Amino acid sequence: MDTSTLTALNEMFSEVTQKTDWRAALDMLFVSLRGEFVFDNVAVYLLDPQTKGLEVIYARAVGRGKTAEADAAWGESAANQVLATGRVTMHEPKKESGETDRLTLAHLLGLPLKIGARLSGALVFIRFGGPQYSKLHVSLASLQAFWASSLIERRDLQEARTELESIQRQMRLQDDFVSTISHELRTPLGFIKGYSTSLLRQDTTWDKETQLEFLTIIDEEADRLTQLIDNMLESARLQSKTLQFKFSPLRLDALVRDVTTRVKMYHRDLDVNLDFEKIPPIRGDGVRLSQVFENLFNNAIKYAPGSRLSIVMRFKDAKLEVAFADQGEGIPEDYLPFIFERFYRVPGENGTTGTGLGLYICKQIILAHHGKIWAESVVDKGTTFFIQLPADPFL
Ligand code: ADP
Repeated sequence: MDTSTLTALNEMFSEVTQKTDWRAALDMLFVSLRGEFVFDNVAVYLLDPQTKGLEVIYARAVGRGKTAEADAAWGESAANQVLATGRVTMHEPKKESGETDRLTLAHLLGLPLKIGARLSGALVFIRFGGPQYSKLHVSLASLQAFWASSLIERRDLQEARTELESIQRQMRLQDDFVSTISHELRTPLGFIKGYSTSLLRQDTTWDKETQLEFLTIIDEEADRLTQLIDNMLESARLQSKTLQFKFSPLRLDALVRDVTTRVKMYHRDLDVNLDFEKIPPIRGDGVRLSQVFENLFNNAIKYAPGSRLSIVMRFKDAKLEVAFADQGEGIPEDYLPFIFERFYRVPGENGTTGTGLGLYICKQIILAHHGKIWAESVVDKGTTFFIQLPADPFL
């Protein structure tokens, strides 16, 4: 090997290390050495520890027979052989076959991929029509296999770290949830207990109007408690995927109008502007979809008090799109990505009650309809929730 090859190797490896995306790093690793080591296709096979089957995690065609990129079956038997022997394998086409079509003269080179000390997969190169792999080629390919293994290991570590971070965040949220939920349960219970004790006092008599007022509060707080417990149960069922949905044809425009009318019975001053295009019926679970809009209304009332609300509905490309907008204080950009997570509440919502379950429930319901929900928000301008639903989630 000469100095220029070593310099090229050195430069290439330092660039590969800097790539954060593992596929881009593998691309660079294989393509930049083609000056020294020619091949037409390359594929990386990993052994699935559970199924014991081979999985193609990366394939690239750079020369002849480019279609092989999509289907990396060409290297499977070479990969299996590498895994069976743990060694470099080479397949050269038989010379005496008299074949002249280069694409049928496949030279295969298979190399073991080791993650830690464990044989985890194989790297396979194919070269059509030769030349045969020289010793230098095998050494270069072995170096690439070594680097590919460490890039795959780095990918696995990154994935494990992301998962761990998400679990840690969930655990923190659950810790907070215990204190939130005990507060949330205590508040209505406190009202119920307080007003019923007052009504039962022997030493005081209450006029009819006051009695009615106390009983109304007790009634409303009992409803709030029921809703809270329902939400908790529902979110647990949604998480364990045991909540049943009943799909049937429905009109979302009529459903949202009904929800709006119901909400306005309790909040007479609420200013809601509905702007609906002509909407065809869709298939959905009416009870659950009503719940989504009830949650959005409850949030708007809580977090954007006094704001005008606007609901726009359109039908485009067999999809229904709803935009539910308020003109409240908005949600700072840093918190926006998390609001659909279970138990998540934006820090500083001290004045409001809540459990961080509402939007999580909304998202799970929309996902069960194969739809999408997301939010855009501008601080001091307002928040808009967008929902996209397919006309028929089963098509
Ligand atoms: P909860 O209302 O019980 O806290 P949600 O899951 O319904 O839980 O909402 C999560 C968080 O998103 C809320 O704590 C709130 O900070 C924020 N949020 C939701 N809707 C709005 C809105 N319309 N405007 C501003 N913030 C909102």
